[in-house]
Amino acid sequence: MIENSILNELKKEISEAEYSAYISKMKYDENASKSDLVVFVVPNIYIANWIKTKYSDQIAHLFETYRKIKPEIRIIVESQKKDVKSLKTPGGKPQIRNILNPSYTFDSFVIGESNRFAYEIAKKISQKQAEAYNPVWIYGGTGLGKTHILNAIGNNVSEKNKNVIYVTAEQFLNDFLTRIQNHTMDRFRDKYRNCDYLLIDDVQFFGGKESVQEEFFHTFNELHGKKKQIVMTSDKTPKQILGLEERLKSRFEWGMIADIQPPGLETKIAIIIQKCHLNQIEIDKEIINYLASNINDNIRQIEGIILKLNAQASIIGQNISLTMAKNAIKDTQKENLENITLENIIKTVSKELNIKPSEIKSKSRNKTTANARRIVIYLARTLTPNSMPHLAQFLNMKDHSSVSKAMKIITTEIAENINIKMMVDEMKKKIQSEQGDKTM
Ligand code: ADP
Ligand code: MG
Repeated sequence: MIENSILNELKKEISEAEYSAYISKMKYDENASKSDLVVFVVPNIYIANWIKTKYSDQIAHLFETYRKIKPEIRIIVESQKKDVKSLKTPGGKPQIRNILNPSYTFDSFVIGESNRFAYEIAKKISQKQAEAYNPVWIYGGTGLGKTHILNAIGNNVSEKNKNVIYVTAEQFLNDFLTRIQNHTMDRFRDKYRNCDYLLIDDVQFFGGKESVQEEFFHTFNELHGKKKQIVMTSDKTPKQILGLEERLKSRFEWGMIADIQPPGLETKIAIIIQKCHLNQIEIDKEIINYLASNINDNIRQIEGIILKLNAQASIIGQNISLTMAKNAIKDTQKENLENITLENIIKTVSKELNIKPSEIKSKSRNKTTANARRIVIYLARTLTPNSMPHLAQFLNMKDHSSVSKAMKIITTEIAENINIKMMVDEMKKKIQSEQGDKTM
């Protein structure tokens, strides 16, 4: 195929190793391509990203000399070749906002003890809506599969021509604000109150945002009254979300609440095997066991490590070795720590406690603020190498002795009050796993 041989031209411009690790893996997709669009399929997402960032321009340029117009170059991953679905709306028009991730299906979800309950409920409500399961609330830590399950429900029921809306709570809020501004709230209500399945991701985002809670309250009531399915995910239970109206909390507890726990060893092994399979990556059993035993619980990070290892191995033209695996884990742990900044800490703490970051940095003596400031200090001292004088400066405090005093108070509190300890531990985990996401 001429398109494949155009790529041959790149051989002159880049190294042999890079050519065989990346470019040689590209397959031209004749059916998906058009005169101004060239689509290539590659075996995994790492290769796709690498080509997109490093070679897209060069490739487009090569095609331009051939076709006389510069096409858009699109690189897609083999396992995700299925078209992105656009969903049916009441008027029959496809709705672009509701883009479900086609690779997040029930089939690609690995089931283990940690997620079985949530999986089964999700499966059940996809088959048949039942009052006892409305609403469904799925909660668990970062990277444990909440978004995956929610998309799996969406993909499954949209195949049965159900009218599905999938949005993050943040998108719901933005949509709401835009509609108010444009005076088109009737269209907003038309959309959200006339669907069969409303899937809302990361509902903790509604905490402290009263106007959108009011709107969601009515959306909820109307859908629930019409026996339409509502599914929500969050990193907490409804009770634990600060700044969430009582009437919403109680409604959210009407149906089913299911948690997703961090995966155990066996589930991690199963997930690694499945991700390797999906991305056509070969790893020895011994190395898989090593990875599963030493990696953290964030599945997004587990995926990232496998893809990194695969890219390294293909560059040096060898199989993935145990030493490479050990180094990759060490690097990731180091990166996780190094990437934690004071800004991340303040952001997480203020989000969890529902106050503004600027308030934590202000001189306010308000009890909640002082408390938040102490937690920031504690987390900064345990997770980063920042000195007390530097923290004092960062938080606009008098000097290092005020930081030291605050540190003493919070340390005692954590030792004596299990609730505070749990809350701080939770924030710590969140900061660490969010870092993990960023390094991918
Ligand atoms: P969350 O929304 O809980 O932060 P995601 O659903 O985004 O987590 O999951 C993070 C990544 O891990 C996704 O790529 C997802 O496909 C994958 N993942 C999570 N749980 C599983 C599972 N049980 N089986 C297969 N992949 C999973
Ligand atoms: Mg998510």
